[in-house]
Amino acid sequence: MTQRQLVIASKNQGKIKEFERLLSEYASDITVLGLADFPDLPDVDETGTTFEENSLLKAHAVANFTGIPAIADDSGLCVDALDGAPGIFSARYAGEHGNDIANYTKLLDVLREMGLKDPIERKAHFTCAVALVFPKSDARHSTVIVERGYLHGWIAAAPRGDAGFGYDPVFTPDGFDLTLGEFGPGEKDRISHRGHALRAIAPRIAELL
Ligand code: IMP
Repeated sequence: MTQRQLVIASKNQGKIKEFERLLSEYASDITVLGLADFPDLPDVDETGTTFEENSLLKAHAVANFTGIPAIADDSGLCVDALDGAPGIFSARYAGEHGNDIANYTKLLDVLREMGLKDPIERKAHFTCAVALVFPKSDARHSTVIVERGYLHGWIAAAPRGDAGFGYDPVFTPDGFDLTLGEFGPGEKDRISHRGHALRAIAPRIAELL
C-alpha cells in the first residue's frame, strides 16, 4: 500500500508527535505533516461561533491549501457560572491573545467578585472539537467528520503548578486534588479533552484516509 498523508493544522511539534503516536495504534502507513511543512499557508480567521465551526474553518482552509486531508482542533474552557464563558474566546479572555496569566487571573477575579467559593459553584469543563476534512479536489470531499472530547472539573481558588499551558494552573479535574498545572508529563493526555477527541477521530482517519 502507498503511504497515506495527513496534515495537522498545528505548528506545535508536541501536539503533532502526540497525535502521530495515537494514530500509529490504528494505522502504521500514515505520514503526519504539520503547518511547519507549509510556511506559506495564510492565517485562518477563527470567525466561527462554536468550537466545531472553528475546527472546520481551519481544517477546510488547510486541506484546500495543501491538497492533503487535514485535521484541525479548537478548544477552550467553559465555566458553568459564566454561562459557558470564556468558551471560544478562551485564548483572549483578558484582551491580549495568548496571555495565559492575564486570562486565568481575570477568571479568578470574576469568580471571586461573584462570591463563588465552593468547588460546586466553580464547576467548569474543557471542550475540544477536532475535524477531519478532505480537499475540494478529493473524491471524498463530501465526507466531513467532527469528534468532541471533554474534561470536567472546577476552578481552583488560586493558581498552582507550572506544567501545561493556558488555564491548567487553575483547573482541577474531577476526582483529583491537583490542578493540571501540577500534573506530571504525559499524565494530562490520558484524561484531557484533546486526548479524548483525538482518540475518537484516530480510528475514523485510519478507516477513511
Ligand atoms: P486551542 O484551541 O488549543 O488553541 O486553545 C484555545 C485556548 O483555550 C488556549 O489558549 C487556552 O487558553 C485554552 N485551552 C485549551 N485547551 C487547554 C488546556 O488543555 N489547558 C489549558 N487551557 C486550554
